[in-house]
Amino acid sequence: MRLTILGSCASQPGPGEACSGYLVSSGDTHVMLDCGSGTLGPLQRHVALEDLRAIVVSHLHPDHYLDLVALRYGRTYGVADARPIDVYLPPGGIAHLDRLASALSSTTPFWEGALALHEYEPGVPLALGTLTARPHEVRHGIRSFGMRVEDGDRVLAYTSDTVPCEEIGALAEGAHTLLAEATLAGGAPRHHDPATHLSAVDAAAVAAKAGVERLVLSHFWYTADRALAVSEAATSFGGDVQAAASGRCFEV
Ligand SMILES: [Zn+2]
Ligand SMILES: [Zn+2]
Repeated sequence: MRLTILGSCASQPGPGEACSGYLVSSGDTHVMLDCGSGTLGPLQRHVALEDLRAIVVSHLHPDHYLDLVALRYGRTYGVADARPIDVYLPPGGIAHLDRLASALSSTTPFWEGALALHEYEPGVPLALGTLTARPHEVRHGIRSFGMRVEDGDRVLAYTSDTVPCEEIGALAEGAHTLLAEATLAGGAPRHHDPATHLSAVDAAAVAAKAGVERLVLSHFWYTADRALAVSEAATSFGGDVQAAASGRCFEV
């Protein structure tokens, strides 16, 4: 299984770096985890849209799904007889996207034909080609779901956005690679009190306890010093620590 970073910024893109988006591939199966602002462009460097099996959205903050709007317009006007792309949303996600559509356009239905919208349930696995994605609810300002993606016995755990909590420990247990948000890393401002995110040290503590081989930090504030974030994590985790960046690939 291969993890390709499409974008690794929180809230807004940075220079040359989109918001949250990750491509997980195994053989001919390609699944996009999150579809934040600016991720559609980098995605197409790695896979044709026709070959995308599905998009799975971790939670309904715009930095994790807003390029679904761009994708809808591209599929509607740009591709003759386009196959709708399957999109798996958190519970309540279809109504959320329908409210967004009503603000954007008088066209109804808005998404149909371009995207096939589904909702997943916590703990119920999604069979996506050769990959299985299992949503684990974590804790954030809104409902948020980490994903445990399995390819045979290889496991990628993705935290989504979350505070430190027992749930991410269960999500990461025995995973080979932990892809963790690290919004409060590398000199980033603290936006909320109490915080709704992880620091690099928080992510490293999860990685160490879960016994993962590799920790990939992501979801950085756009001004964050990523090398500093890696060094912060390395104080609490002795395994491989890497900073996500658009175009980087990791074998899980
Ligand atoms: Zn986010
Ligand atoms: Zn969020």
